[in-house]
Amino acid sequence: RLITLEGGEGAGKSTQISLLLRRLREAGVDAIATREPGGSEGAEILRKVLLSGVVKPLGPTAEAILFAAARIDHIDNTIEPALAAGTWVLSDRFSDSTRAYQGGAGGLDSRLLSALERVTLGGLCPDLTLILDLPAEEGLLRASRRLAPGETQDRFEDESLQFHERLRAAFLAIAAQEPNRCAVIDASASVTDVAEAIWSAVSSRLLG
Ligand code: C5P
Repeated sequence: RLITLEGGEGAGKSTQISLLLRRLREAGVDAIATREPGGSEGAEILRKVLLSGVVKPLGPTAEAILFAAARIDHIDNTIEPALAAGTWVLSDRFSDSTRAYQGGAGGLDSRLLSALERVTLGGLCPDLTLILDLPAEEGLLRASRRLAPGETQDRFEDESLQFHERLRAAFLAIAAQEPNRCAVIDASASVTDVAEAIWSAVSSRLLG
């Protein structure tokens, strides 16, 4: 099984993914957690390049292709081998982040992005996508609070509030288009309540 966690900045994906991993393992499920961009040796190199912002002169299309290249490496070297061994994979971000960041919020042509998605994913599709939903303002506030002293935001966290509002709308539109795959989780609730909502979606849809 492939479960992906998606959402804007500060939605709590990384906290929730470790709680979900623990709970699945307690339930006897063999599972690993991974993340994008990154999750494999080659993709982690591309993550550094992408998040530092040095690719900005390349423009949005070339940047989207680099995200796709990172995803191919991640799928080939981490996701597919785990799934083939019967291990569940939890990914902090996946293809919906490209649809939402580069597409809905970034304005890239959706036909280009779907073509790229077909090439990148082959037939792979998440069994469940948890969309952690939060008002854009609240997410940005949380993301700025979690910065260590002296640490700077990555270049996507630095985008305008309008960008993050488009991003939220894009994730919700994906959930509305694909309700069988996606579950929207209210990420403004407490850590425990969000974890419960996630567990109830996972157990009812995948363990039932
Ligand atoms: O979830 P996390 O904050 O680690 O994500 C890393 C960054 O990569 C985020 O700031 C996100 O905005 C950006 N990103 C992106 N397009 C993607 C995936 C991630 O802009 N397809």
